[in-house]
Amino acid sequence: MYLSKAFIPILKNNPSEAKIKSHQLMLRIGMIKQSSTGIYSWLPLGFKVMKKIEKIVRDEQNNIGAQEILMPTIQSSEIWKESGRYDDYGDEMLRIKDRQNREMLYGPTNEELITDIFRSSIKSYKSLPQLLYHIQWKFRDELRPRFGIMRCREFYMKDAYSFDINDEEAFFSYNKFFLSYLRTFKKLNLTAIPMAADTGPIGGNLSHEFVILADTGESKIFTDKRIFNLDSEGSEITKESLEDLRKKYEQYYAVTDEKFNKNEFEKEVLPENRLITKGIEVGHIFYFGDKYSKPLNASVDLSGGKKDFVKMGSYGIGVSRLVGAIIEAKYNEKDEIMKWPLVVAPYEVAVIPVISKNDSKNLEKAINVYDYLKKQNIDVIIDDTDENLSSKLKKVNLIGVPYQIILGKKSEGDLLEFKETGKETTSLSIEKIAKFLHQQKEQI
Ligand code: ATP
Ligand code: MG
Repeated sequence: MYLSKAFIPILKNNPSEAKIKSHQLMLRIGMIKQSSTGIYSWLPLGFKVMKKIEKIVRDEQNNIGAQEILMPTIQSSEIWKESGRYDDYGDEMLRIKDRQNREMLYGPTNEELITDIFRSSIKSYKSLPQLLYHIQWKFRDELRPRFGIMRCREFYMKDAYSFDINDEEAFFSYNKFFLSYLRTFKKLNLTAIPMAADTGPIGGNLSHEFVILADTGESKIFTDKRIFNLDSEGSEITKESLEDLRKKYEQYYAVTDEKFNKNEFEKEVLPENRLITKGIEVGHIFYFGDKYSKPLNASVDLSGGKKDFVKMGSYGIGVSRLVGAIIEAKYNEKDEIMKWPLVVAPYEVAVIPVISKNDSKNLEKAINVYDYLKKQNIDVIIDDTDENLSSKLKKVNLIGVPYQIILGKKSEGDLLEFKETGKETTSLSIEKIAKFLHQQKEQI
């Protein structure tokens, strides 16, 4: 992309309506634009980041054997009446009437719809388990939309649903998602901690929220610090291995405020290990058995000839919220610099020619470098504007492009000035730079 032609509407100053860093930055560099309260358009920079996050989320769903579908945003009220949630959901649900006066709604979540899809096709235990997911817009008419896309009304969510024959198999499905969430957030360069959670309006009895630490988060969390040293390395997709993984995490106290109990906390966690802080919920998984399959009559034939209601779980990731969450986690407050993790950066590298009057040599060189990197499948932007070097650098630092190639005095012959944000400058050939960037991406 040539910066002179890019649709990146940068503002001179932070907009005053934005209270937290991610909201400020997303408006400042033109990633999003508010269209009405809690509803946003995604402009090229923001959309690119969200699509890269979506791909990582999708890959990790596919890796545990989940199958992708796409359900509509608009749903009929009928199935919600069957489950009993049509009234329960209250004002958060956006209700619409079509021209036949039928009651419709903009889906806030999809338990009913997926159960309806399931019950119309799957009749036998032999087809289980089924793990289905989609990545689709949701609408919740939040009481207080705030912090930009962090708590908005229309947002992009990955939601998955599992169907199993009994509790034991259902826990296996639950644990697969538990693993896939740890892997997803790790790939996104985030430390997300699974915390025992309340099940809220989704209902059920087993639930974890995945929370990343951030002062601006809305969830208050209480943990044993040692949980931060764990990871999912070495886990295999077998019942035993996944049960061990979940137990490994569950041995440490980690809850949000709804589940907090002062006595338990103080009994279980030594003072030096206690951490009370704030976090952002980026994912939430639930097991709720036959809570929906029973009222919606989704049952399967068992091997002995009997029938039973299928056992279900649901698993959400806030794909659009993650864009903001990554900013909250990665923004360097001290130097006022954003640095996107390479895997989700809107551009992986910026090519910056120093352009002086009557001399287009650096620009020509930069275009060659740019063409080469594009051919190598590197997501590159070239600043072909005639601004001076320092304002060009300011801009790429503001956008958060993690690597820069500067074509000026320090780039001589085949050796180019190459810099990672916040690190020392080096001189490398273009081939070595491309190789280095590929290696960095593969490492994750
Ligand atoms: P919260 O407690 O933040 O309202 P929730 O428990 O209602 O979240 P879920 O129903 O579990 O959320 O939805 C799954 C994920 O969708 C959440 O973990 C979060 O990342 C995201 N999400 C939920 N509500 C919003 C919203 N209003 N704006 C942006 N993302 C949201
Ligand atoms: Mg909510």
